[in-house]
Amino acid sequence: MSSFTVKVPNIEIKYTKIFINNEWHTATNGKTFPVFNPSTGEEICHVEEGTREDIDKAVEAAREAFRSDSLWRELEPSARGGLMRKFAELLRRDVEYLSQLETLNNGKTLVNSEIDIMNSAACIDYYAGWADKFTGETIPSTPDLFIYTRHEPVGVCGQIIPWNYPVLMLALKLGPALACGNVVILKPAEETPLTALYCAALIKEAGFPPGVVNIVPGDGPNCGHAIVVHERIDKVAFTGSVEVGKKIQENAAKSNLKRVTLELGGKSPLIICEDADLDFAVFVAHEAIFHNAAQNCIAASRTFVHSKIYDQFINKSVALAKMRVVGDPFDDNTQQGPQISKQQFDRILKYIELGRKAGAKLECGGTKANDQGYFIQPAVFSGVKDDMEIARDEIFGPVMSVLKFDSYDEVIERANATPFGLVAGVITKDLTRALKFVQELQAGSVWVNTYGAMKFQAPFGGFKQSGQGRELGKYGLEPYYEVKTVAMKLLSKM
Ligand code: NAD
Repeated sequence: MSSFTVKVPNIEIKYTKIFINNEWHTATNGKTFPVFNPSTGEEICHVEEGTREDIDKAVEAAREAFRSDSLWRELEPSARGGLMRKFAELLRRDVEYLSQLETLNNGKTLVNSEIDIMNSAACIDYYAGWADKFTGETIPSTPDLFIYTRHEPVGVCGQIIPWNYPVLMLALKLGPALACGNVVILKPAEETPLTALYCAALIKEAGFPPGVVNIVPGDGPNCGHAIVVHERIDKVAFTGSVEVGKKIQENAAKSNLKRVTLELGGKSPLIICEDADLDFAVFVAHEAIFHNAAQNCIAASRTFVHSKIYDQFINKSVALAKMRVVGDPFDDNTQQGPQISKQQFDRILKYIELGRKAGAKLECGGTKANDQGYFIQPAVFSGVKDDMEIARDEIFGPVMSVLKFDSYDEVIERANATPFGLVAGVITKDLTRALKFVQELQAGSVWVNTYGAMKFQAPFGGFKQSGQGRELGKYGLEPYYEVKTVAMKLLSKM
């Protein structure tokens, strides 16, 4: 095991409290929780721990901000977009600081943090554009009846996000909610609350009225749960595990049947056909699994390779994985930082062991990569069979599982034989074959000769147990407005 030292820059932690009504609050129960640096395992600071009472306070503030005569509700839609653009501008202004803070708390490489922050600003800008362009319809009817629809904000929206893209997830959630005129209570993941709290300060600086965006750090079972079961919250949007997604759906229904959208996990297939350019396919497959230390819901965690090119593919993929630079995420040359936590680190190593025991061949990596922190050497498994745990479960770690196939009908069936259906990829030069895959694969996005091609303008979400509803693009607005149908009878005499 090579050993390296992470050179942690001196980063000032400016915000650690609960953000409600554009003010900073201590937790009602006086508790705080520790936040860690995954590159070293050391504690960074303590953050106020929101619980049910704090969510109650946030709901009070949000409901006040949502009154029909409030500053926020009386804003022209284009002015709402203007505030969002200002927020995006502030994200760009502070990209250097925010990226460092993100890397400190999440462990992703500094380069990736910068990309995430700039993408977050672009996402907010994209949705700012919708604020004044999102119209209802007039509906053809009998001459004496005028029917039209109004799009009205849903109200108080709870948003619960994970740790893998702390700022980007916040932007993806806030963008459509604010564009439609809603108010928000957002709970960041307990592992990564720091950048979300800094964003709260930027929301205030941008000029959003008090109560429009409230950010309450805390854990899932208490703070997150309090959002899900709150009778005066109208909608909840969640990104995270299937297990928690199911609880959220159930608990939301048991309380006030609030609207629910879920963006959950995946076990996504990337299918490499015999006609693929091998070096290109190896590169795409490598990035498709290992990007962001493989902590991606879209990770291509089942790589299906045609038997005619299987051995060559394995050789080249192993060579590339061995070259991947695992190290200090603050160093520009690093490609892979640590996993998010000791818990995830242990869980990933356990899966690697399960893969070996089940008879898959560990071609490289799969071991602890440093004395300090939660670094794992990228693993490549050959000889993976469909029923092995490493081919079935979402590992959320740097483990490439390569499966062999002989026929296209067979691989379509195998690729679809999973409860997940988030995304899928195909590498082929044959147009007919590509279109056949596009038709047959059960996934919310299918990428041909590329992978991870997510754009803010295009919808994203899962088939089957990978989720409910869509985020991004115009479709991403749908969960955030109610459609009101208005019918007016024209009186016969003027
Ligand atoms: P998780 O689903 O437990 O947590 C995600 C968010 O939900 C966090 O903010 C958490 O506090 C909150 N939460 C947890 N329990 C809750 C509850 N009962 N009610 C309301 N909110 C609750 O995810 P995790 O523990 O961070 O990771 C576990 C696994 O989830 C990972 O290994 C991975 O497979 C998956 N995951 C998926 C994504 C994704 O983008 N789809 C992101 C992170 C994790």
